[in-house]
Amino acid sequence: MDTNLPKTAHPRLVIIGCGFAGLRLAQQLKHDPVQVVVIDRHNYHNFQPLLYQVATGALEADSIAYPIRKIFAGQKNFFFRLADVERVDPATKLVHTNIGEISYDYLVIATGSLTNFFGIESLERNAMQIKSIPNALNLRSYIFQNFEKALLKSDPEQRQALLNIVVVGGGPTGVEISGSLAEMRRTVLPKDYPELDLSQMKIILVEAGPALLGPMSKKSQDDALRYLQNLGVEVRLNTGIKRFEECRAYYSDTEFIPTENLIWAAGVNGAALPGLPEATITRNKRINVNQWNQVEGLPGIFAIGDVANMVTEDMPKGLPMLAPVAQQQADHLAENFRRLAKGQQPEPFKYFNKGVMAIVARNKAVVDLPKDLHFNGFFGWLTWLFVHLMTLVGFRNKVVAFIDWAFSYWNSDKALRLIIRPFNRRDMKDDRGKRAAEHQAATPEYNPTPPAIQTPAA
Ligand SMILES: Cc1cc2nc3c(=O)[nH]c(=O)nc-3n(C[C@H](O)[C@H](O)[C@H](O)COP(=O)(O)OP(=O)(O)OC[C@H]3O[C@@H](n4cnc5c(N)ncnc54)[C@H](O)[C@@H]3O)c2cc1C
Repeated sequence: MDTNLPKTAHPRLVIIGCGFAGLRLAQQLKHDPVQVVVIDRHNYHNFQPLLYQVATGALEADSIAYPIRKIFAGQKNFFFRLADVERVDPATKLVHTNIGEISYDYLVIATGSLTNFFGIESLERNAMQIKSIPNALNLRSYIFQNFEKALLKSDPEQRQALLNIVVVGGGPTGVEISGSLAEMRRTVLPKDYPELDLSQMKIILVEAGPALLGPMSKKSQDDALRYLQNLGVEVRLNTGIKRFEECRAYYSDTEFIPTENLIWAAGVNGAALPGLPEATITRNKRINVNQWNQVEGLPGIFAIGDVANMVTEDMPKGLPMLAPVAQQQADHLAENFRRLAKGQQPEPFKYFNKGVMAIVARNKAVVDLPKDLHFNGFFGWLTWLFVHLMTLVGFRNKVVAFIDWAFSYWNSDKALRLIIRPFNRRDMKDDRGKRAAEHQAATPEYNPTPPAIQTPAA
């Protein structure tokens, strides 16, 4: 297939991925003498930090996504191809995609990350993830479908398994979604489901480590724990989910939490692409880059954002997978391209940490700033709202999100709880959009009779 990219006298820079990093880099190169070709498997930029709000009915999916072509309308050196990149070939300088091959002079890999199930096959098959807009819409539908099903069950244990929600992973995503679900249980569900006894519904946040919000300050960790407990979330620290089968989330070989709803927010891997030398890929599938974001040993190939593993003196495990890192690396790489074009030496990248934050619920958020400064509560919540509103792409999205938030603050409601695309496990797709195996359809409902214990053959 011909990808029909025009020939130009300028060098061609191919960027794979239009997330925070790829989008920013392509924008920064607007006036540079280079042909910018962006490839993404979606035709929209997705604002991942607000996915959990789509999953819990607080925001419309359209207000956290923006069409890529619209963002770049009028940028003359910009070309977009909707395609899935299958592999890169540094020897021939070709990117192989499902629409054909694209040649490059410079290549920037900005493919982000994929959910990491740590090789636990039953979780990969049965857990809900929250990494893309389809994931978030599936999750929303699935939870409300299960409430509708719970109404039809007379067996209390089966009903409870449909109502229970287990969130695995006590990082910002796990904390944010648990808080949002707990608010929904308090404000929305009693009005919608007066027939259900919601005291039966448990929201359980499971974290393998000794604290929530691992990289944040002790004060923020304690505040987040207290906020969640006050909202009635059961937090289980130092607990790992080992498998999830037949609607049982096992935290030891025999002990389990009965649930149909398990949300996996316990980690991500880099989305490194096939074709790069094995030595450049880390155990968690990130690409080793030097201080200039160049892939080790491959001049002309760069990686930025979540997929790039840049080790620094104060971050020996690599820079964190955060949107500001992705954006700062994009800004810096654009500047270095300009330096190189002028025959100057590129500058090493330095991450400027502006702080981290997590929201738990209405009027409750925690914020850590550099120099050990923290704040929380209402001001933390306002700061979180302001920063996220300002970073959303597009004026329309900012206005719609603001109206949705103002509406739910005013009447304690989350309006978006339609089951418009009923979720079926058979249709479940992974981060790459690949359909899961057919046998997922066979996942049975929760059966209160424990499964027979297998005895080894004599
Ligand atoms: C639920 C959730 C909440 C988060 N909350 C926060 C937060 O509060 N604050 C914060 O700073 N960070 C947060 N993050 C992390 C933040 O979203 C990432 O750090 C950021 O998105 C990284 O940007 P990126 O450009 O590297 O990758 P991404 O934004 O993931 O973009 C990667 C792009 O590459 C495309 N792509 C990937 N592989 C291919 C391929 N083979 N072919 C074609 N296209 C491909 C994808 O479609 C995607 O558009 C959150 C992440 C998640 C999932």
